[in-house]
Amino acid sequence: MDSAMIGKIMKARQYAKEPERVHIKSFVAEFQGNHDVYEITYEEGSWHCTCRFFAQRGRCSHTMALEKLLAPMVSFVVEEPASPVVSG
Ligand SMILES: [Zn+2]
Repeated sequence: MDSAMIGKIMKARQYAKEPERVHIKSFVAEFQGNHDVYEITYEEGSWHCTCRFFAQRGRCSHTMALEKLLAPMVSFVVEEPASPVVSG
């Protein structure tokens, strides 16, 4: 292997440890859930999932799992829910 390619491989290893360098702008993913396969799309900070829960709530276990997997390469539009308020 030539020395130029070896240099690129070394640089790639270093880059792979710095995911904050990467900003994912959009992607489409297939997610194998426990009961079905869902399609997740991501576009400039906006998530979408084909599951029923997402349709109702705008966020679901599938999109949240991908947020964790891809952090810090994706941005978050939906805030984490506030701490539960204890009533009474
Ligand atoms: Zn979902």
